[in-house]
Amino acid sequence: MNHLHRKDGRLFLEEASLEDLARRYGTPLYVYSLAALNDAYQAYERALAGLPHLICYAVKANSSLAILQHFARLGAGFDIVSGGELARVLAAGGSADKVVFSGVGKTAAEMRMALEAGIRCFNVESESELERLNRVAGELGKRAPVSFRVNPDVDPKTHPYISTGLKQNKFGVPIGRAHGLYRRAAEMPHVEVHGVDCHIGSQLTDLSPVADALDRVLALVDSLASAGIRLRHVDIGGGVGIRYQDETPPDMALYREILRSRFKGRMEEVIVEPGRSLVGEAGVLLTRVEYIKRGEGKNFVIVDAAMNDLMRPALYDAFHEIVPVVESETASLECDVVGPVCETGDFIGLGRRLAVVEGGLLAVLAAGAYGMSMSSNYNSRPRAAEVVVNKNEIFLIRERETVEELMAGERLVS
Ligand SMILES: *Cc1c(COP(=O)(O)O)cnc(C)c1O
Repeated sequence: MNHLHRKDGRLFLEEASLEDLARRYGTPLYVYSLAALNDAYQAYERALAGLPHLICYAVKANSSLAILQHFARLGAGFDIVSGGELARVLAAGGSADKVVFSGVGKTAAEMRMALEAGIRCFNVESESELERLNRVAGELGKRAPVSFRVNPDVDPKTHPYISTGLKQNKFGVPIGRAHGLYRRAAEMPHVEVHGVDCHIGSQLTDLSPVADALDRVLALVDSLASAGIRLRHVDIGGGVGIRYQDETPPDMALYREILRSRFKGRMEEVIVEPGRSLVGEAGVLLTRVEYIKRGEGKNFVIVDAAMNDLMRPALYDAFHEIVPVVESETASLECDVVGPVCETGDFIGLGRRLAVVEGGLLAVLAAGAYGMSMSSNYNSRPRAAEVVVNKNEIFLIRERETVEELMAGERLVS
């Protein structure tokens, strides 16, 4: 992580002492660096320079309002997957005409909301969805801008749960059936064909599947053009992988080269939908050690963050580096770092070697993406607070949830 460094054995994010932040705001606490968000965004701007383009931040990676506000200020568009995410984007100052709407299960109410807001494009994932969208837009006297999310059937070589572009996945329409669907859409009175979309998976560390998918999609674009259906944009889906452990993230110069070579001389606007790579390495999760439990053959470091705060280890067996916030002389311990939730799957990291003491602080690294946005209230645990750091400025962007808030919508039976 770029803006994370040690001074006299203490961990800082930009100019903020993580120990001070934990003391002031409590734990578990998510902390994000604005400089890291800027760096990640600029890497995409550089890769796309010279091509007409729009970077649509994938809101699901981290949907906190201040994060969305920051990307809106940088000029980003947004990739949303629900009406709730659209409401967040608008509340954060994002503009609807830079929003693309993905997802296999859009409801009629969500379509209405998006049409009324005036979003840029619906990424349609099935023929039934196309029919519904045409009907809903007709009821509102509007024409819905559409792209089809095509499934190019390439193996992205990532974790099966975050691979989305294979035949057996629920996402998209098979690329071989796209022609017929575009012709059908072109005849509909209340939809207007704008583009094509494809997202093959997340945490991609090898770019060759991206290049293969893009070649297949552009062949489709050309064959549609010969049939008189001209597309204005090509949406190439999510972003590149990041470094959690020993992965080698793709070289952005190569990413740029793949895009430039394919889009040189073409007229279509390029849309990208990065999530993880814009926020992942900008955030840490701070957690305090409650107990050290020395077991038979196994030691447990029991911390106050759990799977409800950071679900990725439990859900995908994902690895996050864990480091002490303050270096100590304590002997290091072979241990599993676990939370208080009553599930064996509730762990933050297994088989680690850490110099820790009870009451000490740990930082879970690269936790900015799919951390807070996936958090839940399981075990009736209020959700964590969030802080943004900008040099030496500190902003509390989300207050710690209270137990009263947890129960606010509930009623006893009479
Ligand atoms: C999740 C998702 C993204 C973002 O993927 P990252 O790997 O986080 O960049 C983009 N587009 C769609 C359709 C998604 O579902």
